[in-house]
Amino acid sequence: MNDPFVCARCAAKGPTCCELTPGCEEVCFPVSEYERERILECALDLGGFVLQPNTALFIENLLRLFPDQRRAVKELFPPGGAHYRLAVDESGKCLFLGEQGCLIPQDFRPYYCRLFPFWTTEGGRINVLEIATCLAQLENKSPGKLLKALDVSQVKVRDLHARLRRAWGFDPQSK
Ligand code: SF4
Ligand code: SF4
Repeated sequence: MNDPFVCARCAAKGPTCCELTPGCEEVCFPVSEYERERILECALDLGGFVLQPNTALFIENLLRLFPDQRRAVKELFPPGGAHYRLAVDESGKCLFLGEQGCLIPQDFRPYYCRLFPFWTTEGGRINVLEIATCLAQLENKSPGKLLKALDVSQVKVRDLHARLRRAWGFDPQSK
């Protein structure tokens, strides 16, 4: 069942997907130059980005997201290089998180944020990126129910995932 208030209820309860565990910043997803420019177009700087080294842990995490893209990950995020990520405060909250939720208009948010908690794998199969604090996941145990609760279609997930892949430099089609 569609549940338009699940994210608001989640935010009222505790940490959401807009917060990192302090100390885990290096595994935050990357924000591509294209996505960053789009956010800056909204006149939203807020010191919201950090240049983050491509550490071994970051690359390992990226390989978990793109297990079939080992060579591309190595080329796009080489060890010794760096990428932008969202900046967070000392408690792990994204600097774009306001009192009423994200300050960035929906269509300009990083693709990862717009996709979360969904992901796609080979052949476009839709997966759920599990986090223990996601109320929508706790209340909807199957991907189908979760899609309904968050009012997202499979077509939309696949489209956003292709856009994310293109923005991050990967082939937009998952194999
Ligand atoms: S950019 Fe917006 S949606 Fe993404 S983590 Fe920050 S506050 Fe949340
Ligand atoms: S997607 Fe999940 S973790 Fe993020 S705000 Fe909604 S219910 Fe919470």
